[in-house]
Parts: sequence; C-alpha cells; structure tokens
Amino acid sequence: MSEHTQFEAMSEAQKLRAMIEATQAGSWEWNVQTGEMKCNERWADMLGYTLEELQPLTLATWLSLANREDSELSNRILEAHFNGRRSYYECEVRLRHKSGRWVWVRDYGKLITRTREGKPEWVVGTHIDITSIVQLQQKFETISALLPGVVYQYQMNNDGSSWFPFATKGIESIYGVRPKDVEDDASPVFEVIHEDDFDHVVRTINESKRYMSRWVCEYRVKLAGTERWVFGHAEPSLLPDGATLWTGMIIDITERKRLEIELEESRFNLNRAQKIARMGHWEANQETGELYWSDMVYEILGLDPKTTKPSINGFRELVPEEDLALLEASEKAAESTGVHDVQHRMRHASGKYIWVHELAELKKDGVTLIGTVRDITKEKELENKLLKQSKTDPLTEAYNRRHFDERLRQEIERSQRNKLPLSLISFDLDHFKRVNDSFGHSAGDDVLISVVNTVKSRLRMNDIFARIGGEEFAIILPDTPEDDAQMLAETLRAAIQALVTKTESESIMVTVTVGVTSTYFENESAETLLRRADKALYKGKQTGRNRVCVFKPEAEA
Ligand code: GH3
Ligand code: MG
Ligand code: MG
Repeated sequence: MSEHTQFEAMSEAQKLRAMIEATQAGSWEWNVQTGEMKCNERWADMLGYTLEELQPLTLATWLSLANREDSELSNRILEAHFNGRRSYYECEVRLRHKSGRWVWVRDYGKLITRTREGKPEWVVGTHIDITSIVQLQQKFETISALLPGVVYQYQMNNDGSSWFPFATKGIESIYGVRPKDVEDDASPVFEVIHEDDFDHVVRTINESKRYMSRWVCEYRVKLAGTERWVFGHAEPSLLPDGATLWTGMIIDITERKRLEIELEESRFNLNRAQKIARMGHWEANQETGELYWSDMVYEILGLDPKTTKPSINGFRELVPEEDLALLEASEKAAESTGVHDVQHRMRHASGKYIWVHELAELKKDGVTLIGTVRDITKEKELENKLLKQSKTDPLTEAYNRRHFDERLRQEIERSQRNKLPLSLISFDLDHFKRVNDSFGHSAGDDVLISVVNTVKSRLRMNDIFARIGGEEFAIILPDTPEDDAQMLAETLRAAIQALVTKTESESIMVTVTVGVTSTYFENESAETLLRRADKALYKGKQTGRNRVCVFKPEAEA
C-alpha cells in the first residue's frame, strides 16, 4: 500500500488529531452539564503531568489548577459565548505547573452541542503555552516603563495620513495622549508641538522619508501650558505599499536643555566679564606640566590659540629672568597657604613686556593650580607714573628733596657696607634773584630747566640728581672719590657757565657755585655730608662765586 492511500484511509477525526498534535497544542473536551473532561497527553504535559496522574479529569481538576482571578474572567467570557454574544471563547489564563510556577496558556474553545433543552453541552478547545511570549511582553513593559519617554512606531502613508501603530504608555508623558488616542490618526501629537518648532519637525520627517535616513530632532512640546524640550530619533523603513514606518524613541530633555542654556549663558557672561576685565583663566598641573588657557589668556599675550600649545615650561619662557624668583616664591607659598598671588611681567607676542597679576588656588589634589590672570599693564604704568611723580620735582624733573634724603641715607649705608667712597656735590645759582628781577619769574624757570638738563646729560646712570631747594641742587655720586667728584663739579660748572638759555626775547646766562665733599670716616650721617657740602658752597659764594670749592676738614672747626 502506498503512503498516499494510507492517508486516504485516515478518518477526518484522525487527521484533525494529527493536525492538533503538530501545533504542539493541548486539546480539551468538556461537558458543561456533567463536568466530565477529556484531554490529550500534551494538555497534561504542558503542566508537567501525565494524563494518568490527573485522573479522574473533571472541571474540578481544571479549577484546582487555574488561577482564581483568571478562572473568573474565563467564566465570564464563556458565558458570553454561550449567550451567543461571542462566536467563540478566547482567554489567557494562568495554570499551576506541577513544579509550582504559573504557566500562561491561551485558551480557545467553541460550544459544539447543546442538550435537548438547549443548555450548553460539549465544548472543545485547545491550550497553547504562551508563557515565553507573556514573559517577553512583561519584560518589554517593565523596560519601557523605565525608559524616560516613549518607544513607538509611526507610519505615514503616501496620501500624507499618519498614525502610531504602536506606542508605549510613555507617550502620555511626552505628548499627553494615550497610545489608543493616536493609533488611527497622529494629529493629536502634532497639535501639541510648539508652533515655532512645528515646521522643523515636519521638514526633518520629510527628509528622513525622502532619503530613508535616520530621523533626529530636538523640539519643544506644549503640554498643559508648559513648554518641554524633547529629543526624538527613529529609523525609517519602507513598507510594500509605499508607506513609511519609523521605529524609534522620544525622550524628555527639558532639564538637560535648561542646564545647557544656563551653562551657555553663564559661559557667555563669564567670557564677557573676563573680556571687560581683560582677565583670563588657566589651570596648571604642576606634576605633568600641562597648562590650560582660556581664550582671553591668548589674547592678553597676543598669541594664536590655533598655533600655540600652552605648557608650564612655555609659560616660564615668557617671564623675564628677573621676575622668575618672585613667581617661584609665590608658587612655593601656595603649597602651604593654598594661594598663589603674584604680579610679574610677561613677553607679549609683539616683543613688548606687559604686566600681569596672577591669582590662583591650589586644588585639593595638591598639584593643580587653578586661577586667573589679568593684564595690569595700564595700572602698572599708572602706578609707575605716580611713583615717579612722587619722587620728582615737577618743574625740572630732577628728583625732589624727599627722594634725595631717602637715597642719600641708602647710598651712605651701601658705601659703608661695601667700603667704597661716596661723594656729594651741591650747587646754587649765582645772583638768581637778579635773573628773576630782570627777565621775570617764568624766564627764571626756563633757566632752572636748562641748567638741570645740562647737568643731567653729564651724569652717569647711578648718580642721583635732585633739586633740594628753590635754585639749589645736589648730586649723590656713589663709588666716587673726592678727586673725581671735584673734576665732575668743575665740568658741570663750566658747562653751566657756557649755557645760554633763550627765551622769546632774551638770551640768559648764569653761573653756579659748587660745593664738593666725600665720606671720610665710618658712620657718617647724611646730615654731616650735607652740612659739609653746604659749607664748601658757602665758601665759594664768599670767595667770588662761579667756582668749585672742596670741603676742607680744618674749615669745620
Ligand atoms: P646768591 O645765591 O648768589 O647769593 O644770590 P641769589 O640771588 O641766588 O640769592 P638767594 O639764593 O637768596 O635767592 C634765591 C632766589 O631764587 C630767590 C627766588 O626768587 C629764586 N627762586 C627760588 N625758586 C625759584 C623758582 O622756582 N623759580 C624762579 N624763577 N625763581 C626761584
Ligand atoms: Mg642763589
Ligand atoms: Mg639759594
């Protein structure tokens, strides 16, 4: 007999049974009136039993295995089927496995006979184990509930109509709609998109559709009067009918956006404040030598951020040799005080030196200094100008009396310490009252200025020249013995005698009488030296003026 004829010989009932076996489904028959049940081996196997173990099989067996809640639901559905309100019975129920765990079963059934009185009699059906599907679904629901937004599918037809075939519950937190509100029509979602971002959203969707490229978009949603920022991304795919289906996710980024905007604003304000103050900030790792500079630091130094790579060594090279010790002392102090505070010069890209004020703190790691640098060149120039002003006589720009006194004391000390000679020249203009009387006070001033300039041009760097009275001057000559001082005094006297001061109408000539003295003994005071120079000068005045007189000790007696 061929197989073909064997198949022909099978009864329809046998074929049906074979078919059910092939689906791995459990099958059941139940007499509603008597409670009698018949099941196949697979039905029992699904729950970890053999059929034999479950005998006698009745409704009571099923009730003892089924989850109470689920069996109540199942009853209601059966009732609806028996009443004719449902054409078949379908329910998902939990049944207790022999091992104690729940097995999720999809239960299908149909009433096939009724009693003569019309009461439901035999019902037949199948059990399919859907535990793994239910578990997967539960996992998905748990995970999607944890996601800060919505996972969804969005479909757009060629006629432009669109809907959300699938969306997790999170769609409510993003768009304020439930999944079923948009499963036929996506409009409720588009209605809450911020009007200023609407075109952008539509354009990016259309681009994604045209190029089959990933849709990525940041936009605002207006929900119950409040604005929220969301970020969406989705992969498009083309359906056979030409529609496009996106699968993706949208999350709420309001907080991130708020911080971003805040950060942007504070960065902007910081930059602006730093620009106004000409202040930059930096961070230096003293262990690795790494150095970070903000844009303003480059600007202060005239350097290009694109071509300059800052480092602690590179920074030191810009600091002049004589300021390095100061810088290092401040860095050293920071190790114990935690504060680095120093003013020093730096070489600007133009070659000029600028002044900077560095203020920094040592971080907790003990090696990173974080701080600010400010360009204080203008302040320094002003400070230097004021300092110079405080030392100089405004008319002649020679040093003033106060500075002279201070320096004389210092230079005497220094000469004693170094055992070097020191000389002092003092001079007074001869008959200067007459100059004023004849040519006027202003012309007298001009004479004083030209005398000062003449003297200045003949002095060395270290000589200190001051106007110590109206028309009296003095010069401190460090490292200079009396002979040399006398020679210089004679040169100066001659130069002044030869000097012609031209005013608008006149040419004025003056002479000076000069006193010279030097240190003789240790511990000589400034007062002593000044008195001696004065004595010599007085002698010169007495002996005819326009001359140099060196102090003679015997004269002091
Ligand atoms: P000598 O020193 O040779 O004895 O005669 P003298 O005429 O210079 O006498 P004295 O030193 O007493 O007079 C100083 C004069 O210098 C008095 C004052 O008018 C003048 N004088 C002082 N300071 C200034 C000044 O800043 N400008 C002008 N134009 N004159 C001044
Ligand atoms: Mg005089
Ligand atoms: Mg005088």
